[in-house]
Amino acid sequence: MIKKFLTFFCPLCWRLRDSDNNNSLYCEVHSQPTGSAAYKRRRRQLEKVALSQSPPLPINSTFNYLVNKNISPETVNRAITSSTNNRGGDISNTQILSFISKYYKTFGNETKNIDVTRFNNIVSWGSAVIRAFNSSIKTVQLWEKTCHSLTATEQRKLFLYLVARIETEKKTLSGPSTKGPKVGSVKINLEIMSSLIIAYDEQKKYGVKVNLSRIAKEHNVSRQTIHKKWNKFIKNEKVYRKVIKNSKNKNKNT
Ligand SMILES: [Zn+2]
Repeated sequence: MIKKFLTFFCPLCWRLRDSDNNNSLYCEVHSQPTGSAAYKRRRRQLEKVALSQSPPLPINSTFNYLVNKNISPETVNRAITSSTNNRGGDISNTQILSFISKYYKTFGNETKNIDVTRFNNIVSWGSAVIRAFNSSIKTVQLWEKTCHSLTATEQRKLFLYLVARIETEKKTLSGPSTKGPKVGSVKINLEIMSSLIIAYDEQKKYGVKVNLSRIAKEHNVSRQTIHKKWNKFIKNEKVYRKVIKNSKNKNKNT
């Protein structure tokens, strides 16, 4: 039974896949072309985890491994089921939410603005959750389509799978990128950086070696300072180019 619920999801993330189509194993973000940047990035992230296990896990099982390593949706479902059996009745969205907030804190925090009393079933609650995480209408449609083939109890379980997977994504895989600073976060001396970029481009174009001492003198700073800035630029070329470009655009607009 566990397997059946898993097949509704993209093996690399929390989004649903088209389970009627055997050719589309992945969600809209990670599907063909499998050479897409999002696909490659996610594979790299999961590869690290997969290889750290002995024996290494298959990449397509690794996301699920992370989900269960945190708290399996089956565990939460059992907790909810046993509480309804004790009371002998239906369970409201608010009650389900109290379980979810207890087990999946990141998810609870990130969706606290969603008023669950607005939804009279778990399907529309799920659609609102998917929209809250900025997925396109396609994932919402897949969610609704999948739910329609399930009983109410199964829908609740599928919802818990969705929540558990979003929790894993947000908690484990959405950390700050290790690929370098974000454009908005770097503070630089724009003039010096512009000189470095020009020198770098000249070096590439004409094969002339960059003269860091000259640039240091031009800007009245030590050679070490320039050297440090140069290394930073080489490491995160794209980011610095963007910062310079943005600042130029800003000047144009003011
Ligand atoms: Zn995916």
